[in-house]
Amino acid sequence: MEPSLNPSDLNDVVGVYHWSDVNDASTALAAARQAQHGWGSANLPTRSELLHNVGDRILGVADNLAQLLSREQGKLLSDALAEVKRSAQIFHYFAGEVLRNNGQFVRGLRDGFMISVEREPVGTVLLITPWNFPMVVPAWKIAAALAFGNSVILKPSEYTPGIAVALTEIIADAGFPAGVVNLLIGDGQLFGQHLVENVDAVSFTGSTTVGRIILGQASKNMTKVQLELGGKNPLVVLDDADLDHAVDVALQGSILQMGQRCTASSRLIVTRGIHDAFADRLTRRVADLRIGHALDPDTQLGPVATDRQLARNLEFVTESKAAGAELLHGDGAVDVRTQGYYMQPAVFAGTRSDMRLNIEEVFGPVVGIIQVGDIDEAISVANETDYALSSGICTKSLNAAERFRRSSTAGMVMVNAPTAGIDYHVPFGGKPPSGFGGRENGSAAQEFYTESKVTYTYNPQESSVDAYQLNSATKNDNI
Ligand code: NAD
Repeated sequence: MEPSLNPSDLNDVVGVYHWSDVNDASTALAAARQAQHGWGSANLPTRSELLHNVGDRILGVADNLAQLLSREQGKLLSDALAEVKRSAQIFHYFAGEVLRNNGQFVRGLRDGFMISVEREPVGTVLLITPWNFPMVVPAWKIAAALAFGNSVILKPSEYTPGIAVALTEIIADAGFPAGVVNLLIGDGQLFGQHLVENVDAVSFTGSTTVGRIILGQASKNMTKVQLELGGKNPLVVLDDADLDHAVDVALQGSILQMGQRCTASSRLIVTRGIHDAFADRLTRRVADLRIGHALDPDTQLGPVATDRQLARNLEFVTESKAAGAELLHGDGAVDVRTQGYYMQPAVFAGTRSDMRLNIEEVFGPVVGIIQVGDIDEAISVANETDYALSSGICTKSLNAAERFRRSSTAGMVMVNAPTAGIDYHVPFGGKPPSGFGGRENGSAAQEFYTESKVTYTYNPQESSVDAYQLNSATKNDNI
């Protein structure tokens, strides 16, 4: 049994949870396999209604869920409530997708042939999720997997078991058959490989390091894999940008939510003409943020979610100072009454692309400004990264925005908006090595959670036998 502590107040034990082992994993696997066939062939209105029911039930207890999420993960209560509501919307969205799961029916190239293209469930899917969005990431994976007839095993982050328990209880109460949704809590290293090798597909969101491990394990049995990994997302600010808006975009993207977003704007690339004003105004905005307990309505910046992440953030601050970057804000003490994982957000100027701060994902409120001469240099610096998740530009010029959009190597591009943020009705994700195996959400979800089955039907009454024999005999087009 392991306790889960509130990052805002380490004296607050949120819950104590049983950590699963390989035996639990085998039990979950057997249950999921057994339930999948029935669920995959359940009629569509039933599937749709159950998913809708989950969305309704989430909304019915949204305030309680938000409290739990905030206590367990440390995000502001308002952010937690937004995440809970977004999760409900996603279940509602995928309730609709169940009925839009249309195949195709087309004429074949040969006379008398009709071809159907159906989408079948993949089977049993393992969903491994991180701690930063511990409700909405499981929600968008579970809802999509269930909508297309799969059974699931959810393995949430060991740092956020409580919200996963709450979500899966809601799903069970909504009326899903036993075994369709299974939950394993704890250290994924203990039983991850066993599951990856024995399920039909894995959808993983987390660090690039663990993603690579899972990809390697999946190769053994050719398990279908989808990886949503880290980012080092550039936000370019050009001289002609609206200064207030650009600062707001940078603040939201890089510091708010404690920078704990894969899509965080973690490299601020600013052209010379606006650089000093931008750096000055951003520093003042950051310095004004009220740091405190995540449940306190006056708080604007809560704690870091985990002790490990806090140590990593502080390491980046120390190392960047030693590397010669200018710390504009982030050296002061934090005055909060409760004992938690608090830190001052840090903003550096005078950083270079070859500094570790601008190479590795921090995943915390530590951001560097890189000064550049013009848009050409900005684009080149923006693309100078091993990641390819999200990118953004602040400018009033449509031409500049369009040039940036075309040149960006990232999977998602934001214009005059933070690099973070997602709409669930469109595909989400990055190009390798920030993403692999297809995108999530929107129309992309069906691609991953189904396999196509193509059936050729020849109807002799619809065509002359001669035509069929001719096509077969020539063999030229019979591949
Ligand atoms: P992590 O990789 O440490 O853990 C993610 C999940 O994998 C957890 O549930 C963990 O228990 C599990 N895990 C760890 N080792 C495992 C193994 N060997 N086998 C099976 N499971 C294993 O990531 P984290 O610290 O929880 O989350 C932060 C990372 O997630 C960041 O890199 C961030 O960019 C990324 N992230 C990406 C997206 C995206 O959509 N691209 C979204 C959110 C977070």
